[in-house]
Amino acid sequence: MQAMTTAPTLPADFNDFVGNSSTVESLRTAIAGGRLPHSLILAGPSGAGKYTLALMLAMSIECERQPRELRSYEPALGSDGQTLALFCGHCANCTRIASAADLEAQVAAAVLAREELRETDKKDTRVLIQPHPDVLILPPDPPQLLIKLGQVRTLIQQAHYLPAEAPRRVFILTAANMMKEAANSLLKILEEPPDTVNILILAENPGELLPTIRSRCATVRLGALPVEEIETLLAYRRPEVPPNQRALIARLSQGAAGRALAFDLDAYTAARADALIFLHNAAAGSQAGDRSGAQSSDSSGAPSQAVSSPEVGSSAGSRSRVASGAPHLDSEMWVHEPDHTALFKMTETYRAGAEGQQKTTTLLRALSLLLEDLLLLNAGTPELLRNIDLRPELERLAAALPFAWIERASHAADQVQSGLRRNLLRSLSLDAFAAQLTTPA
Ligand SMILES: [Zn+2]
Repeated sequence: MQAMTTAPTLPADFNDFVGNSSTVESLRTAIAGGRLPHSLILAGPSGAGKYTLALMLAMSIECERQPRELRSYEPALGSDGQTLALFCGHCANCTRIASAADLEAQVAAAVLAREELRETDKKDTRVLIQPHPDVLILPPDPPQLLIKLGQVRTLIQQAHYLPAEAPRRVFILTAANMMKEAANSLLKILEEPPDTVNILILAENPGELLPTIRSRCATVRLGALPVEEIETLLAYRRPEVPPNQRALIARLSQGAAGRALAFDLDAYTAARADALIFLHNAAAGSQAGDRSGAQSSDSSGAPSQAVSSPEVGSSAGSRSRVASGAPHLDSEMWVHEPDHTALFKMTETYRAGAEGQQKTTTLLRALSLLLEDLLLLNAGTPELLRNIDLRPELERLAAALPFAWIERASHAADQVQSGLRRNLLRSLSLDAFAAQLTTPA
């Protein structure tokens, strides 16, 4: 996933943080005025820059030099002479916090360190990242990828001490999915946060947090960026990507700058080929049903069409795996309800382990995006399509699949993805998906 990009580093200043400038300004104003809420939820899609912004805010809070940017009073330009917090990026506090910029590498190192412990110690050791004595970062603890009680206990313990070196203590929870005991424990500190503490919770979907946690936090949302802005960013930061691929990536990354910059088009097109087999099978079955079985139970070319080469950046290796594993079509089974088992046959091969989870997530995201595109075509808004390279194929699918089925499949795919984020057992989520698709409209 990260192969095409270098290790993440923080922007040198807030002007280099892409998008959501007025939201960022209001947070900087709050820090400068000492009014940043003790407990804050930073909400936004994956890749919107939640973690990057959280570290930049932490640096502004903790910077030894406490620099300020003064906006001159210019009513004509909408400037009201605010004071905005900044960070110097060079002091001992700034540099230590910035050292945590590559979250994946930090988590991997912490997990590795835990692996080397004795079995008895391993169980009680939680993954924590502490780039600075006053800044503690809590990522979801592998392998379950939930924030656990032990992590929140460390947070609470540290929160009750005065800051050691910096002005305040800052805690960053990098995800909203946590174990029930951890959430209940967090609730206690959110009820009465010590005066010198700031807690930032990063959430793709704040709805997954306990309502009692949400009600004790201020919520700030990082919105999606316009497609054009992301295309410009890609042209500047990933100039090696051809323009037609940049246009596609900008649409597929759904307004998230970070996702666009790290977008692995090969992995996506491979997953999309799997998802297309599923949709073509459903379409073929639906048409066979319309023709009251006039068609033979032969596969009639639909699956081979599905695995035909996408126009851009496809990986031949993954395609051939898909092709060899392509389920056979039995149109009799599709007369009343499209067969969801095709999807399971595909995901079966990659159910195990973290890599399997990643592949399943990518497949579901690809399927979701395709289904949304089919809904957009049905709604007569083809200009909003994301998979712009597949428009003719998607138009054929939209004509062949019953609208109600597309809607139901789209809803079900969203539910499974949300289940995966909450880390419900993957197989349970996929079973639920199957159940959704077989329930009559
Ligand atoms: Zn500094």
